[in-house]
Amino acid sequence: MTVTRFAPSPTGWLHIGNLRTALFNYLIARKSGGQFILRLDDTDRERSKEEFIDGIKADLEWLGLHWDRVERQSERLERYAEMAAKLRAAGRFYECFETPAELELKRKKQLNMGRPPVYDRAALKLDEAARERLRAEGRQGYWRFQLEHERIEWTDGILGELSIDAASVSDPVLIRADGQVLYTFASSVDDMDMGITDVVRGNDHVTNTATQIQIIRAMGGEPPAFAHHSLLTGAQGEALSKRLGTLSLRDLRAQGVAREALLSLLARLGSSQPVALRVSLDEIAEGFDLAQFGSAPTKFDAADLWPLTRAHIQSLPYQAAAERLAGLGVPADTAPAFWEAVRENIDRLDDLAGWWALCRDGAEPLIAPEDEGFVAEALLLLPPPPYGPQSWAEWTAAVKAATGRKGKALFMPLRKALTGRENGPDMAALMPLMQRIRALEPR
Ligand code: GLU
Repeated sequence: MTVTRFAPSPTGWLHIGNLRTALFNYLIARKSGGQFILRLDDTDRERSKEEFIDGIKADLEWLGLHWDRVERQSERLERYAEMAAKLRAAGRFYECFETPAELELKRKKQLNMGRPPVYDRAALKLDEAARERLRAEGRQGYWRFQLEHERIEWTDGILGELSIDAASVSDPVLIRADGQVLYTFASSVDDMDMGITDVVRGNDHVTNTATQIQIIRAMGGEPPAFAHHSLLTGAQGEALSKRLGTLSLRDLRAQGVAREALLSLLARLGSSQPVALRVSLDEIAEGFDLAQFGSAPTKFDAADLWPLTRAHIQSLPYQAAAERLAGLGVPADTAPAFWEAVRENIDRLDDLAGWWALCRDGAEPLIAPEDEGFVAEALLLLPPPPYGPQSWAEWTAAVKAATGRKGKALFMPLRKALTGRENGPDMAALMPLMQRIRALEPR
């Protein structure tokens, strides 16, 4: 059975880049009737917050990306200790004592000599007496995994055949001096224990994958199939990392972006398939194919979410908006007609409020100086509200007969006088909803 996981670190709110990773893993599981696990990478006790965990869950629920179960790394520390003991016994873990400053100096020297800054394994040469002396100096040991120097190869679900020379990678630190288990290790143990079959994540993890393949094998497991998607950039190709904070899912949601728009865009962006509005996850899953995605950075423009949101809203039946309309105070007998009249003129559901205010309170008339005489004459022919479905046709016919104006020159100044705007819903549908016409009131 296919088992995938989305493994956020709960150190912040989910952003658009996280959504891409979550969605890909979700869709793979859904397509094959498998399982999707929400795994919280929360071994960093200081930066992980319950608040963010709640936020991650709320975002995924809103999107409809339901998980089969939740796993928390902070609850699996004993298991990591057990596996660390196993790797120590197998001679794959070794204790190191260099300080960050010492490591930085080594790096600089290597770079100056034109060599890649790979950890030189000096600590491997320490004997027990030397280690004791370092401990007596007050240094605390931390643990690295000794990579086997071979080519690590895998067939990546997006990038194809990959091969990384393990000698070009530093032996990863897996356990810190304070005992904290680091992600690279915890994730390997989890992927093995939880029977994860497929991992999709950003291509910033490619080197991690190479080391995790060796770690999992060293523990006696079989690595999952890996795929690395490209990272999102801004519309101009600029790095998005600094702006990701402003592209949090909760902010986009608060701005009125529809979940269907987010899912439809992110499930296809960066692939050879066209983006189109798809309203159900089944529909989205159906055409989803990892092999259609490319390795080039993927441009993301938040503006692209609006046409999709608009298309979605315009397709909604009245029932989908009924609650929102009731909340605005639109009377139940008027609400269906109001929805029909305005839904093609809104970008987001929040825009309903403005149109309802216009119907209820009227609008400040917008009258061009050259139309003043014409509009004054037309208003003399307009009775006060309430209006019916024929009112607009009857009024404009009367105005046409009286003034001789026709077409846009007739209709546009009247629309502007009544609504204060140049565009909006069909006037014949809007007029019966208008309870007040300020242009008719004494100034
Ligand atoms: N917590 C890791 C991250 O957010 C997970 C990466 C992975 O999928 O293994 O980058």
